Amino acid sequence: MNNDCTYCGSDVTAHDPVFVAEGVDDERQPVGRFCNYACLTAYVDEEELTSGACCRI
Ligand SMILES: [Zn+2]
Repeated sequence: MNNDCTYCGSDVTAHDPVFVAEGVDDERQPVGRFCNYACLTAYVDEEELTSGACCRI
C-alpha cells in the first residue's frame, strides 16, 4: 500500500491523514486514505457514496 491520497494523489503523510476501512467478514479492509477530512468528503461527494446509504430512517 502506498501513501497516495485516494482523492487527490498527494502523499498523505505530509498532511493530517484520515484512513477509511470497511468491515468485511469481521476483518477491516482498508479502502482509502486521504490528506484530511476535506479530501475525504470531496471524494465521498464525487463518488456519491452516500446516495441511498443513510443508516437513519
Ligand atoms: Zn488529498
